[in-house]
Amino acid sequence: MDGIRELNLKCNYIEDYLDLGKVEFKILRLELNGQPFDFQPGQFVMLAMEDYPLWQDKAKLKWTSMSIASTPLEKEYLEFCMTIKSTPGFSKHVGDTINVGVPMLVKGPYGRFILDQGAGRIAFIATGSGIAPIMGMIRTLAAIGYEKPFDLYYGFRNSNQFLYREELLSIVKSHPNFKIHTTISRDDPSWKGRHGYVQTLIEPAGFDGINETQFYICGNPAMVDDIKKLLAAKGAKPEQVRTEQWA
Ligand SMILES: Cc1cc2nc3c(=O)[nH]c(=O)nc-3n(C[C@H](O)[C@H](O)[C@H](O)COP(=O)(O)OP(=O)(O)OC[C@H]3O[C@@H](n4cnc5c(N)ncnc54)[C@H](O)[C@@H]3O)c2cc1C
Repeated sequence: MDGIRELNLKCNYIEDYLDLGKVEFKILRLELNGQPFDFQPGQFVMLAMEDYPLWQDKAKLKWTSMSIASTPLEKEYLEFCMTIKSTPGFSKHVGDTINVGVPMLVKGPYGRFILDQGAGRIAFIATGSGIAPIMGMIRTLAAIGYEKPFDLYYGFRNSNQFLYREELLSIVKSHPNFKIHTTISRDDPSWKGRHGYVQTLIEPAGFDGINETQFYICGNPAMVDDIKKLLAAKGAKPEQVRTEQWA
């Protein structure tokens, strides 16, 4: 396929999000080290590690899809935001073995979940690590000084799982046309905001000028399905709604 590259990149940054003492998410950066890697905000790559082969055929690597959370305007590194599962699989292997300096193989870019920078209003809807490709889009809009309104509706379990909290709040401060709406789905006495699934943020939302709004939804398949139905009931046409999903 045109434009697909395969690179061997070293991890140069790791940030852990812990909940009840367990690492639930990792933000990882892979250093590009001067190598160009063209992609569009929202696209994904395939990641592999040389010490993680397929169970069925140890001569082959296990490749796993991962959205790029950084903006293409960032030339120093590619960033990923990964849910770390406790069951055997690629993410557990990353959780157990990744360190600064450890190499990863990157193949891509792929995908049609791509930011349309010529759109009018934009509404992003995410749950959990579904923020990853959307972060790449929001960072791009912030960097280019997008002049139309763009909003993020973000649902996560509790305040420990509010990924990119500081960065998102600082974009809100510096970009008056960017707003975030958050909700948690589990008990958390320290949370002073809304409770409920992200669907409860979308149900009452008016979306001024819904016909001029482009929607991007990313998260688990049940949420994506619910939100698509809610938006359709509000009058959004299928071509206004782009989705990416994983379990
Ligand atoms: C387009 C796209 C973008 C995505 N972006 C993100 C993202 O930004 N962040 C994120 O957290 N997730 C993302 N995902 C989900 C990610 O690809 C994995 O599916 C997810 O991390 C599941 O975790 P895992 O560790 O079980 O993964 P995997 O290891 O890929 O497991 C998935 C399946 O493969 C099997 N499997 C695991 N290891 C092996 C092996 N060695 N040999 C054979 N089979 C094996 C497992 O049993 C399981 O059924 C994305 C998915 C897609 C499709």
